[in-house]
Amino acid sequence: MALIVLVVWALGSSACHGPDEPVDREASKAAQTSQHSSPQPQIVAVDAVKMGTRFDIQVAHHDQAAAASAIDAAYEEIDRLEELLSEWREDSQISEVNRQAGQGPLSVGPELLEVVTRALELSQLTDGAFDITFATCGHLWSVGQQRIPSEQEIADCLPHIDYRNVVVDQEESTIELIGERTRIGIGAIGKGYGVDRAAQVLSDRGIDDFIVDGGGDLRASGQRFGRPWRAAIAHPRSPDEFLAVVELWDRSFVTSGDYERYFESDGVRYHHIIDPATARPARASIATTVIADDTTTADALSTAFFVLGPTEALAIAGDLPGVEVLLVTADMEVHQTPGMENYLIDDRRR
Ligand code: ADP
Ligand code: MG
Repeated sequence: MALIVLVVWALGSSACHGPDEPVDREASKAAQTSQHSSPQPQIVAVDAVKMGTRFDIQVAHHDQAAAASAIDAAYEEIDRLEELLSEWREDSQISEVNRQAGQGPLSVGPELLEVVTRALELSQLTDGAFDITFATCGHLWSVGQQRIPSEQEIADCLPHIDYRNVVVDQEESTIELIGERTRIGIGAIGKGYGVDRAAQVLSDRGIDDFIVDGGGDLRASGQRFGRPWRAAIAHPRSPDEFLAVVELWDRSFVTSGDYERYFESDGVRYHHIIDPATARPARASIATTVIADDTTTADALSTAFFVLGPTEALAIAGDLPGVEVLLVTADMEVHQTPGMENYLIDDRRR
């Protein structure tokens, strides 16, 4: 999903001028030595590759040194989480949980316990459309190697996808995977969790006005020079266009799509969002954008709604306070919850 969403600087006529201009962090440090902090807020922006995607953190604050140091601390938190939660690291806790499948409970730290607990709640809420045990069959597919599994491989694997095979014991702080073949993967929720934790670090340091963008998984807090932060919803089939722009007040915003990690074979697009009911790429949507109270929830729901398609996605979102969805189907039909209107400021479909 990297780069499908960009913070829009250029939409307002005054954007990118004067105090709106993002301040280069090194330059701002140098400026700090020769003058006192300006009482006017300025933007301090730092980007970095984390969790396999490009993160961008922007803070609007009058004390640039304090903003830069808070951003450093936020990135340190993301690094710490990545060590615990990365499925690609042999020594991470999640890799250990997967190695222990079918062999009883394993003690884990509070972070993995929290992510997995929330993941299971969201599986229940979405009737298994979001399911971290998709990973049991996920390895059969490879976008990078353009690998398509055989019917036999899928039939053999599918019965082992079931979030009820993940047992969390809050008191003991353990996770148990029932069945030797069960695997979990948190690719559709871990980044949102990382964004939430980074945002918490900024808040704890007294920073109120910021945006944390983890490659499209985005948390906006407070304001930017008296206006809400803005984000754009990319057009899923036209990389240079966007569908709409939203304004966000203390909200999270996440998009899932089939247009960044995919390959085509015989005219069929194979992408990275798997329908747990079939163990194949989901076909009900081509893009979903979710707004929610927190990024962990928005991340998981954007994936779940992608799998479910418009009817079920809008029904579930309609029952969840604070949750809005905009969903695009393969024929470019756009479906959205009524409350989405409250966020859209520049709707290119009209
Ligand atoms: P992105 O990877 O672009 O951020 P998503 O948030 O939708 O997009 O996450 C997709 C990732 O989530 C996949 O790469 C995979 O690791 C994992 N995943 C795929 N299908 C599911 C599913 N049905 N439930 C939970 N996780 C999934
Ligand atoms: Mg997601």
